[in-house]
Amino acid sequence: MQLYFLGSGGYQPSLRRHTACLMIPEMGLVLDAGTGAFRIADLVKTEELTVIVSHAHLDHVAGLTFLLGACGPDADDRVSIHAHPEVIAAVREHVFAEPIFPIVPAFRLLELDGPLKLPAGGTLTHIPLRHPGGSMGMRLEWPGHSMAYITDTTAHAGADYVEFIRGVDLLVHEAYFNEDGRAMAELTGHSCVEDVATVAAEAGVRRMVLVHVDPKANPDDPLDLRVARERFPSLSVGYDGMVVEF
Ligand SMILES: [Zn+2]
Ligand SMILES: [Zn+2]
Repeated sequence: MQLYFLGSGGYQPSLRRHTACLMIPEMGLVLDAGTGAFRIADLVKTEELTVIVSHAHLDHVAGLTFLLGACGPDADDRVSIHAHPEVIAAVREHVFAEPIFPIVPAFRLLELDGPLKLPAGGTLTHIPLRHPGGSMGMRLEWPGHSMAYITDTTAHAGADYVEFIRGVDLLVHEAYFNEDGRAMAELTGHSCVEDVATVAAEAGVRRMVLVHVDPKANPDDPLDLRVARERFPSLSVGYDGMVVEF
């Protein structure tokens, strides 16, 4: 299975990184719809598009307005958007409010309660994450394939989502700061990469890709990974256009 990184940055787009958006084209599955969502239209190969949104912060939902026509002209009823009830309400009342966006698309806005069935016999489960305004971690599983997507939150040793992500083939986790940004990480509800590596090691995941990178950091080397790699060697920093097999 192939995971495409359409937006690997956090907060705002930069020249090299758009904001949060991941896609598994063969499943018609999109995780978050930040500004990177404009790239979905070129990758759609399924009749239906299922979009799952972690939370309603703008860097994760601004691109929902780009989905109009992603499945072809007048096919916006083939798009379903799933999220916690308060996120669905915020999207309906704000993102698709007439002063913000002039067209009300026929997208299905659906409140996530329990697990969600995915194409090809897959299942999505989810867990609340600690973040101002809340966020939602996701675990996606198919026979022989598993991944988790954890953004936005503050990682720490013994985090309550460690069991939730245990043993996945691929963990995609946010990492906005290094150790020297710890106070800001706590304040803003984001993660230091060293703590993310601790969580990955505790959870026994096979591989990790970091996203929600600081747009102001050096795009070639946005995080100092030396300490993190000592704790969890199998990690890399995601970039727009990256494709990962899991
Ligand atoms: Zn964010
Ligand atoms: Zn956020």
